[in-house]
Amino acid sequence: MIVAIDGPAGSGKSTVAKAIAKRCGLTLLDTGAMYRSCALLCVQKGIDVYDPANVDEIVEVSRAAQISFEQREDGQGVFANGQDVTTAIRTHEIDVAVSPVSAIAGVREAMVAQQRKIAENANVVAEGRDIGTVVFPNADVKVFLTADPEARALRRAVQRAGGDAAKDKNATADQASVEEILADLKRRDAYDSGREVAPLKPAEDAVHIDSSLLGVDEVVAKILSLNEELKAMDSTETAPDPAPDPAPEPEVEAKKVEATPKKAPVRAKKAEKNALGPMHAFGGNTFDDYYDHAMCDYPVPAKLFYGLVIGVVGGVTKALWPWKIEDIEKLVVKGEGRVIIMNHVGLLDPMLVIVSCGVRGIAVRPIFKSEFNVNKLTTWFFSRVGGIPVNRGTADMKCIRRARASIDRGENVLVFPEGTRVKSDDEEVTVHGGFALIAQLAKAPVLPMGIVGVRDLRPKGAKIPKFFKRVYAKVGDAITFESLGVKGKKQLVETMEKVAMDKVYELRDFLRAEHPGKM
Ligand code: C5P
Repeated sequence: MIVAIDGPAGSGKSTVAKAIAKRCGLTLLDTGAMYRSCALLCVQKGIDVYDPANVDEIVEVSRAAQISFEQREDGQGVFANGQDVTTAIRTHEIDVAVSPVSAIAGVREAMVAQQRKIAENANVVAEGRDIGTVVFPNADVKVFLTADPEARALRRAVQRAGGDAAKDKNATADQASVEEILADLKRRDAYDSGREVAPLKPAEDAVHIDSSLLGVDEVVAKILSLNEELKAMDSTETAPDPAPDPAPEPEVEAKKVEATPKKAPVRAKKAEKNALGPMHAFGGNTFDDYYDHAMCDYPVPAKLFYGLVIGVVGGVTKALWPWKIEDIEKLVVKGEGRVIIMNHVGLLDPMLVIVSCGVRGIAVRPIFKSEFNVNKLTTWFFSRVGGIPVNRGTADMKCIRRARASIDRGENVLVFPEGTRVKSDDEEVTVHGGFALIAQLAKAPVLPMGIVGVRDLRPKGAKIPKFFKRVYAKVGDAITFESLGVKGKKQLVETMEKVAMDKVYELRDFLRAEHPGKM
């Protein structure tokens, strides 16, 4: 998840970004602080940042600058080359020196590289001038925040006097100070908007919000309402919501869905909303078409191919490794979309689930790592068997959206939270919690499964697998969010991650005890 907030100085970006980071558990990326740090390092070195002859030296300093952030109780600490510069970068001297430094292409290149690196493995809310246009053009949410220059100047003046205009709408400040700041803001706006590289301007697809007359909570609520995934990450239950959206809280709707058998209309309604055009009967469909459409809408040749795969894979694997799923009736439930999760020991794991459901006309869409799409053939194959690719190591919102849409249509989504096959119990396993977020967004239960025996089929170093060894899987009870007994969207997801994975391991250990020697 990347939230990009751009806008001129004093528009409230920092306060809003900070609030979103806190409420949604995102990493706060204050890019202005990075340019300020470069300016400070130059000033400390005695470089005249206004002299164009010093550009190379300024770029050199910026390239060598290692800037990092530290979360603190009272805000965010900023470090440049190990030096705490949190307050030193907020002086009037740096307010002025930062503009010429940030206008240098080489400086921006170095900073943008660091900014992208920070966001590589994190969900981020980034604020600056060029976030939506240059740094993260594919951001999930793009906002351009503005405010009257006078309102912005007043906010800064109140802030400098130790107050907070965002909290106190009647706050006042010394008129001379407001005027001095207003002049500085106007000068910086002109400089930032007029420069050649990455000028301050809204991205074409950015949502404009004028914060002149809005409080922080109101702006934050507006931004959260732009993206459902982001909204679901919000841990504050009482946030005001400007959108006239009467949608019930997840817990309430989950309860309704659980208590009555009227699940189908709810799902059907959502499916209608997500309706796509029909797929072509022969050819002309893209891989995305397969990821986005319901499997029951696949063209006839694709369906025939799927039937063939199910038949062949089912027949061959059953003959070579007689497998059995205990409590299979909990798995093969028609018309109810769920997130199925399982420990991952080998290639047979997804096949068992897909075949068992497939022969009963139940769609299961495996989430597979995009690295498997090594060439057109594998991409073609995975798309035809209902796979949905995921870019691991990133918050792949496209995958999450697709998985959620599948569940809304009544399909099951199969996720291996361990990410990759676990070959030994000594291996350190990182559990990826995306499955719980998918389930929460889709208001669907999580169905845990455990599996044993697959690891023994290919002992370490063996070139060919061993045949005629039995494999066992076991299905647990579906876990609803309602049953977790916690409140708050974030807490619900975290608890689901833990409870559901514990259940997976409990099922696996049960099978190990039931079938001694199977791993
Ligand atoms: O956001 P803040 O006011 O702290 O930014 C300080 C300066 O850094 C801006 O006036 C602008 O010159 C520069 N900046 C930039 N690009 C960004 C963020 C800040 O050029 N993404």
